[in-house]
Amino acid sequence: MLADNLKLVQHEIKAALDKRKEKEMLTGSQVTLVAVTKNHPPEVITESLALGVQNIGENRVQEAKHKQEAIGKQGYWHLIGHLQTNKARQAVAHFDLIESVDSEHLLAAVDKEAARIGKVQDILLQLNIAHEEQKSGLDREEYLALLPKLGNYKNVRLRGLMVIAQKCDDVEETRPIFAAGYRAYVRLKEQHPEIDLLSMGMSSDYIIAIEEGANVVRVGTALFGQRDYSYKF
Ligand SMILES: *Cc1c(COP(=O)(O)O)cnc(C)c1O
Repeated sequence: MLADNLKLVQHEIKAALDKRKEKEMLTGSQVTLVAVTKNHPPEVITESLALGVQNIGENRVQEAKHKQEAIGKQGYWHLIGHLQTNKARQAVAHFDLIESVDSEHLLAAVDKEAARIGKVQDILLQLNIAHEEQKSGLDREEYLALLPKLGNYKNVRLRGLMVIAQKCDDVEETRPIFAAGYRAYVRLKEQHPEIDLLSMGMSSDYIIAIEEGANVVRVGTALFGQRDYSYKF
């Protein structure tokens, strides 16, 4: 089941990459697939790793901690859900990349906790481009105000940007959101040539996200089926 789904998703990723080839995008010619395992039991992670998926995405610090205690921490873990400042310590302890940094307050907390344990924490800034009802992510003004302050935080390393598109009836409506995400990435790379990650797209829209420049996609349902919200850890 998972093996078949994975093959299909990898095939779609390759097709989308082929399609954007002539655009010569600054996000390169490869895509990292993050397997989003939230609300699935820890064994799903073990299975994914065995099939060669190295990137695991979880939404909640507590759930990830539980799973790492159950199966050990193998692979490269992405925190993709909203992070509360008071959970920064655990997030830094359990995640390789925090994709959902959405305020200076949180950035400062992550930096402080990373400094405490002598870590340089990789992060993405999450942009709120879609607006809609979703309220996580930096809006344009907050983002522009934060950029000049990044240098104050020595224990975080900016790797790039994360964008979530709104849910919509026609998936094509996500395209302008992802295109705006890519433009923001290009502008950020002028100031920070070292950035290398643009995380955009989930099960319903990762193909469009890749066509528009994503080099990280976060896919749950297309790999693992519906989430089990009764799953207790
Ligand atoms: C849950 C989640 C995903 C994966 O969603 P699917 O639709 O199951 O692929 C991706 N990104 C974020 C931020 C999520 O919370």
